[in-house]
Amino acid sequence: MGSRIRQNPERAFIVFFGASCPIARDEVIQDRGQWLYILYMLLNVKQCHLSQTTARNGWCLRATPVNQQPVLAGIDPANIRREAATLALSRKAQTSESHLLHKIVTETPRRVRVKSRHPFAIQAHELLSTTLADTSKATWIKTKWREQWKSAEPSRLHHYINDPTDVSGQDLPLNRLRTGVGCCGAAMKRWGLADSASCECGDPVQTVEHMISSCPKHQPPNGEQGLIDLDDDTLTWLASTELQV
Ligand SMILES: [Zn+2]
Repeated sequence: MGSRIRQNPERAFIVFFGASCPIARDEVIQDRGQWLYILYMLLNVKQCHLSQTTARNGWCLRATPVNQQPVLAGIDPANIRREAATLALSRKAQTSESHLLHKIVTETPRRVRVKSRHPFAIQAHELLSTTLADTSKATWIKTKWREQWKSAEPSRLHHYINDPTDVSGQDLPLNRLRTGVGCCGAAMKRWGLADSASCECGDPVQTVEHMISSCPKHQPPNGEQGLIDLDDDTLTWLASTELQV
């Protein structure tokens, strides 16, 4: 029995979610005793029968990596916005002698003994010493975001988006075509929501790649390059397409 237990915190979380969601409780836990069932699921994760909703949302879809979400939404990343706010506050404190933080940002900060601490004084000094005085907050954010995007691990989205600050937060279907995660035939069959993975054009397997590059029925007017350049034809197609992906 012990050899069948494998640690998997992510799945354990999903199992607890399934156990606490009303559908799972109604369908499975009823008449069995919740704790007994949770123990059963933890020991036999592969055999447990969660509700279809949980399985569809939790087990089959791969979550969008955190660093890609701001790009898809067209919103500056939170860590960069926080740093920008620190920079703005530091500048204000530096120029005003009556400011409460004036002494902190103008004097050399003391070293921190605990590595995990990131005190305001040290960050303020770093930002003030590495940023030109005439650089605006908006320009600083853009530069920082581009650097962060370039230094991130290359992904499928990097192929489509070179400059994250130049994305206007497009919605479906563009983001699904870019990320490759969408309701294409192959995925629907894998999720148990369709009997066949075939495409309306006759291709036996409808993937997002097939739609972008070779589907005579769903292909964007200028193919993959159009999704990168977002030319007028592609934008018009995106606005009018009835593609459900
Ligand atoms: Zn097709």
